[in-house]
Amino acid sequence: MASASSGLTPFTIPARDVRLAAIEGGDPVQPTIVFVHGYPDTKEVWHDVLSRLAGRFHVVAYDVRGAGGSTRPKRTADYDLDRLTDDVIAVLDAVSPDRPAHLVGHDWGSIQGWEFATTPRLDGRLASFTSISGPSLDHVGVWMQERARRPTPATLGAVLGQAARSWYIGAFRTPLLPELAWRTVIGRRYGKLLQRAEGIESSGSHPAPTLVDDGVHGINLYRRNVGRRLRRPRPDAVAHVPVQLIVPSRDPFISTRLFEDLPRWAPVLRRRTVDSGHWAPRSQPDALARWIGELVDDVEGGAVPEVHASRSGDERPFAGRLVLVTGAGSGIGRATAISFAEAGGEVLVVDIDPAAAARTVELVELVGGVAHALTADVSDLDAMEHLAKTVAEDHGVVDILVNNAGIGIAGGFLETSVDEWRRTLDINLWGVIHGCRLFGRQMVERGQGGHIVNVASAAGIQPSKDLPAYSTSKAAVLMLSECLRADFAGAGVGVSAICPGFVNTNITRTTRFAGRSDEDNVRLRARTTAMYRRRDFPPERVADEVLRAVRDNAPVVPVALEAKLAVFAARFAPRARRLLARAGGVPN
Ligand code: NAD
Repeated sequence: MASASSGLTPFTIPARDVRLAAIEGGDPVQPTIVFVHGYPDTKEVWHDVLSRLAGRFHVVAYDVRGAGGSTRPKRTADYDLDRLTDDVIAVLDAVSPDRPAHLVGHDWGSIQGWEFATTPRLDGRLASFTSISGPSLDHVGVWMQERARRPTPATLGAVLGQAARSWYIGAFRTPLLPELAWRTVIGRRYGKLLQRAEGIESSGSHPAPTLVDDGVHGINLYRRNVGRRLRRPRPDAVAHVPVQLIVPSRDPFISTRLFEDLPRWAPVLRRRTVDSGHWAPRSQPDALARWIGELVDDVEGGAVPEVHASRSGDERPFAGRLVLVTGAGSGIGRATAISFAEAGGEVLVVDIDPAAAARTVELVELVGGVAHALTADVSDLDAMEHLAKTVAEDHGVVDILVNNAGIGIAGGFLETSVDEWRRTLDINLWGVIHGCRLFGRQMVERGQGGHIVNVASAAGIQPSKDLPAYSTSKAAVLMLSECLRADFAGAGVGVSAICPGFVNTNITRTTRFAGRSDEDNVRLRARTTAMYRRRDFPPERVADEVLRAVRDNAPVVPVALEAKLAVFAARFAPRARRLLARAGGVPN
């Protein structure tokens, strides 16, 4: 039945009351991935994705009942989600009887996929679920009911916004008219509409030659299931497998707000955003194939946590969020990376020092979190552009960016050389600018909000004769953060600046004391380190404030008493502030 080549072989699967037309490719010894198409498509919509994955996996796609070469039952009741579950069980029995298979669904295939991934009937039969452009009807039902119960202008706006995108569902529920529309206007114009709206050319097999019949019979999916489930959603529709949610950034039919509550329903969740309209399987087969392949590899290799038997949703505040932290190989950055991972985030640990980044990933894994190490010098534009591109390709758009990498420099203005000024501004200021430009643009273009945290310093508020370069760089970060906050507010991207005081980290061991000899530098570093150790303010407390700033969308967050005093003095005691600036603070 199967061919060991990457060519796709047609075959038929007998199910309870129908026969399902299917194709398969790749080696059946490899993990099986089953693809379920949407409406009004057929299995052919997956062709480009299947051909990219058939070299490494056993891939299978089938025509859903009522579509393509499968049987077309006449009664609406025959399209119940329960009958569709019978069908996928028949498919799994035929193609992966002894081993859980990975499931991928698009549009109505994804709506079905949620049913399969949450129904006890398929417990143990699936290994993962990748959902593209199709929410669970149960989740939408609960989402609407909860918002209708607590109406505010924002929640009502959200419900009405999704209703406006789902106008066609109402139209499909009227008798006969949709059938007539398919047989007259839509059937003839569909290819052109798809081309105009999504830039997708006909491939010969998609849209299928059976399009009009597929369109007419598939209406039963809506008629049978949508109203029932939205009125009486299952409150326990929690996925029993790891879920990967791929969200097309320009999907005209699905509001991303529907996925706000997803961590509740998917205890192990990975999110990706793909730059496409609704038909991502046709327009972005490379990205889809890569992400699907990665999830299968990770699940098969044990790199994805299993869903616990209790199957309660992940209520952690950053579950399923992609977080990038620069300078995460030490101190505040490392503590922040670990805290986000503990709070459910998937963390990208970026540092100029690859060994330090790898160590942070180990520490994250020790607390049961997920992290990936990446190397980049934040002051190097090319390196940062490469980082932004790689991250977008491999992980998708970052939800939370923490621009933390920075260095210390002390010494009077006339002692600080031009090179020392450049290096300080390159890392402490330009590093933040590069991060905000590159990742901020991706967040804004994605249109689903996000958050940027810039680590400034109490020294960016309180001037000091001993810290002209450092304080100037941090004051600039503070102002940049405020400007950006105003600029990005409309896009739903929050911006916070964190201003820590004296925090016990490695920074005192690497700080440069300008105008001093090498021996003096060694001595001054040791004295400053001892001072910071005595102050004993741990980086973990700064990390807590970073997470809180994101949760509350806080504008400027002073951390530790000295930072709060600096804010107070700037506002209410400008003379005292200037006297303090003259006193300085660097040991001799
Ligand atoms: P740290 O020295 O412990 O950690 C800084 C990390 O950044 C290191 O892992 C280092 O390898 C990395 N890094 C340095 N230059 C980089 C570059 N060009 N590209 C990428 N990574 C680079 O220091 P920390 O105290 O955790 O400092 C983190 C941030 O907090 C800095 O921006 C610092 O200015 C700020 N801050 C620190 C304190 C403090 O008292 N420790 C106070 C206020 C603000």
